[in-house]
Amino acid sequence: MGNDVARSTGGGGGAREELVTLVRSLGHYLQYQAKVGLEWVPWEQSEAAPPRQETLAGVRADLGECKRCRLHATRRHIVYGEGSPAARVVIVGEGPGEDEDVQGRPFVGAAGRLLDAIIAAVGWRRHELYICNVIKCRPPRNRDPQEDETDACGPFLKRQIRAIRPRAILAVGNVAARFLLASEAPISGLRGRVHDFEGIPVVPTYHPAYLLRNPVQKRRVWQDIQMLLQVVGGKSGG
Ligand code: URA
Repeated sequence: MGNDVARSTGGGGGAREELVTLVRSLGHYLQYQAKVGLEWVPWEQSEAAPPRQETLAGVRADLGECKRCRLHATRRHIVYGEGSPAARVVIVGEGPGEDEDVQGRPFVGAAGRLLDAIIAAVGWRRHELYICNVIKCRPPRNRDPQEDETDACGPFLKRQIRAIRPRAILAVGNVAARFLLASEAPISGLRGRVHDFEGIPVVPTYHPAYLLRNPVQKRRVWQDIQMLLQVVGGKSGG
């Protein structure tokens, strides 16, 4: 077998000779370059910068005191998101409501209390997860976010997700599910299946604010949560 290898590679001696020839020609080339006055070797560098390793703090710093859309004029606080940078599950909502705007924290109003109850029912603790929204500033009178607002803010959510690289994303409500899945479909058509965002499984489900008005849908949300648990491989959220 040793002979086979030697034959197929042309033998050890052949390879060494080739290397010596290569180094010699490189030497000649460099001498020639020096003779014609070039003291450096042109080196082609890739135009593309190496992909940056995102961090939550870095994304927050880039967001700054954001004025990228009109919502900055009426907000009290930017609601960036909170939780574990090593969370196995990221929960994405729509945008801050009044309580969140006042406190600067996501999901702390009535919908947040229902979300907390769901989290507790699973056996998770809120601080083990990461909770954030598509937009970071409250729209006046809690209207739906407009397209230019999600266009301005959405890239920061994507970067937060890339910083965490969770095992799964729970997208609650139309705005979060449509944004992450780049879909126009309603949440009723998206839920019940596992989707994908940049290789991360996405489980869409109804928004807790919708559940407060339609408690009969809790059963479906619970089914979606069971699917999420299967995706992340158990109850440990962090
Ligand atoms: N609804 C959301 O979508 N997000 C919050 O943070 C609060 C309510």
